[in-house]
Amino acid sequence: MIDKVMDFLAELFPNPDPELHFENEFQCLVAVVLSAQCTDKRVNEVTKVLFKMCPDSISMARLSQSELEKLIYSTGFYHNKAKNILALCKVLNEEYGGKVPTDPDVLETLPGVGRKTANVVSSACFGANRLGVDTHVFRVTNRLGLVKATTPLAVEKQWTKKYAKYCNHDSHFRLVLFGRYVCKAQNPKCGECKLSGECKYFKGKKNVCRQSKDKCKGR
Ligand code: SF4
Repeated sequence: MIDKVMDFLAELFPNPDPELHFENEFQCLVAVVLSAQCTDKRVNEVTKVLFKMCPDSISMARLSQSELEKLIYSTGFYHNKAKNILALCKVLNEEYGGKVPTDPDVLETLPGVGRKTANVVSSACFGANRLGVDTHVFRVTNRLGLVKATTPLAVEKQWTKKYAKYCNHDSHFRLVLFGRYVCKAQNPKCGECKLSGECKYFKGKKNVCRQSKDKCKGR
């Protein structure tokens, strides 16, 4: 089943280019940090200005907390994001020569960098065999029945064990795009989804509808 799913997603999204804009690993890391609770479109508007002023960790570290807050204000949670990004720049500059570590386990120890961010950045920039599990990946993989997990970490562990060849950034990004545009949190487009024949969520919904036609009108 996994090959059928991933082949279909590859057909749907043949060139999974990141929707976030960046020109180097540092910018990728900052863009992903800024994308928490924010749309990629908004992050790109903000980073267009921010990265022009500060393309690397050395120049960004020169900003004050309030200067950075003003620049990233519209991404939300700007106070914490600015604090984390400045702390991140300091660690990168003092301990890693201004470079982003390639190892996801090291990345995860940096300020403001959680497991999802570490996996996304290391797989996107350095080809690490990791799957970043965000809300879309979590939902899609569970709905399809590819994993049965209640936390993002459990999704990642089950996925890694069962589908090692799909632990990469392209797979992550295709699952994200599929979750964003087809298998949406509210009103997934099951009627036009070619995976409905294999989908655990869809089969469950059909069974409920068979048992109670009235309840399911319009679903
Ligand atoms: S059938 Fe519906 S729930 Fe299942 S993968 Fe497709 S869109 Fe998602």
